[in-house]
Amino acid sequence: SPTNLYAALRAAFPQDLSQWAVETDTGLIYSWRDLDSASGKLANLLASLDLPAQSRIAVQVEKSVESMLLYLACLRAGHVYLPLNTAYQKGEITYFIDNAKPAVVVCRPESFNSVSQIAFQHGTQHVFTLGDDRTGSLLERAAHCDDAHTVVDCGLDALAAIIYTSGTTGRSKGAMLSHGNLLDNAQVLKAYWGWSTAGGAHLAGPQGRGDVLIHALPIFHVHGLFVAIHGALINGSPMLWHAKFEPKRAIADMARATVFMGVPTLYVRMLAEAGLTPAAVQGMRLFISGSAPLLTETFRDWHTRTGQTILERYGMSETIMLTSNPYSADARHGGLSERRAGTVGFPLPGVGLRIHDDAGQPVPQGEIGGIQVRGPSVFAGYWQMPEKTKEEFTADGWFKTGDVGRVDGEGYVTIVGRSKDLIISGGYNVYPAEIESIINDMAGVAESAVVGVPHPDFGEVGVAVVIAKPGAALDTAAMLAQLKTELANYKIPKHLAVVAELPRNAMGKVQKNLLRGEWAKLFE
Ligand code: ATP
Ligand code: MG
Repeated sequence: SPTNLYAALRAAFPQDLSQWAVETDTGLIYSWRDLDSASGKLANLLASLDLPAQSRIAVQVEKSVESMLLYLACLRAGHVYLPLNTAYQKGEITYFIDNAKPAVVVCRPESFNSVSQIAFQHGTQHVFTLGDDRTGSLLERAAHCDDAHTVVDCGLDALAAIIYTSGTTGRSKGAMLSHGNLLDNAQVLKAYWGWSTAGGAHLAGPQGRGDVLIHALPIFHVHGLFVAIHGALINGSPMLWHAKFEPKRAIADMARATVFMGVPTLYVRMLAEAGLTPAAVQGMRLFISGSAPLLTETFRDWHTRTGQTILERYGMSETIMLTSNPYSADARHGGLSERRAGTVGFPLPGVGLRIHDDAGQPVPQGEIGGIQVRGPSVFAGYWQMPEKTKEEFTADGWFKTGDVGRVDGEGYVTIVGRSKDLIISGGYNVYPAEIESIINDMAGVAESAVVGVPHPDFGEVGVAVVIAKPGAALDTAAMLAQLKTELANYKIPKHLAVVAELPRNAMGKVQKNLLRGEWAKLFE
């Protein structure tokens, strides 16, 4: 059995290595042999640097097939891949480089001056550049390396990657993930989501050889890097590679693909396209959504427009994927196959999930509390944060996700928010997601966020911040009146404001800490 994730992925490549593995939106085609030999050259380049085993390789570059090959090369060479969001600026880069002490930094050609200065100041020995069009010193150097490379036998407990969390609730933390964490999750998802290499009526892939993935996500994050890339590679399935998500292009490519993965906004943007029709998605087998809550409205609209049901799943940097709505009948749950709007489905095979209260006790079935998990994909801890790591695990070894949710009688998990966003008003717990979902269903509302702010009588009260749909005029008093007919009084926001946009971080997630700051003095 493999002792390196790359070896496991490589074993799944098709026998005929001359078949296409990746086609880019600029028309480049990479065969399976290309992936193997180019990642081999890059792994040999890394080996030639004589780095200590498990060195960190920090990478901040635009999405390209070569950046994926660099990830595969790190796996092969037994080093630790550390991707950084392309939106991060100088101050953020300094934090990550200082924190991770990478031996190698790879950056965009245009940022070489600023990044190399930071890197050399923090003891990094090697700085390479990689452009999105196969330019830069990394590939120039790798071109001189042999493409035959023996995969390093590092063991499945060795670190494969450090993924910095999105920083939605505070400063990003580096989640340390092992080869084994990643491999296990990839294998579980392959089976649970019905990946196939066989042809068949429902698999309209080219060459009749099964699934084809549209890869339109960034690859500095768990969703695009692990769920999407591993999903395709461990099934020997080709990818249609989109450097940037462009709704028309994504819809056009559905004619020759079977699987699409997106964050909720990608679905919203495709829904705005007239070209999204049942005919356009006819050959598609599976639409997956995650990274943020999928609005029930989007879920329903997608079904109405395409006849297909989005499968929502839930995970995080620290654990990779934890739960999923069923792809087909799930025998562990009485054969249920319904993908239920507003839920993230069942714990994946091998994942333990329980709901505990703040005192660390299990809550009664169906009640809300903190989501705790354990399983083979749960990380080894936060990079250089032993105290924080200790805090986030229970005495009996479960990881406290920081998300709040419940499990219904049939086993479906619903996320109601993050524990840090919970509002305690007059002693009652108020879950922002419950209020947001009602507001989001009102006419003329595009989206909303509810946050808690200090209040002299109640301790804390909710403030609802609402974005109107283009051209819609919202009557805030009428909206509050409607909320009062649907929710207990203690849950009603004490103020509802219409604003132009919500503060988002580089991953597009709403930053409620900033919203709370903005509205903190409202009731002083
Ligand atoms: P930080 O930990 O730095 O505050 P973050 O938690 O946003 O940032 P990630 O690890 O990228 O960083 O995101 C994981 C989080 O995303 C989960 O804990 C959960 O809150 C949210 N999430 C992921 N999938 C879903 C989903 N399907 N529905 C609701 N929330 C989701
Ligand atoms: Mg988090």
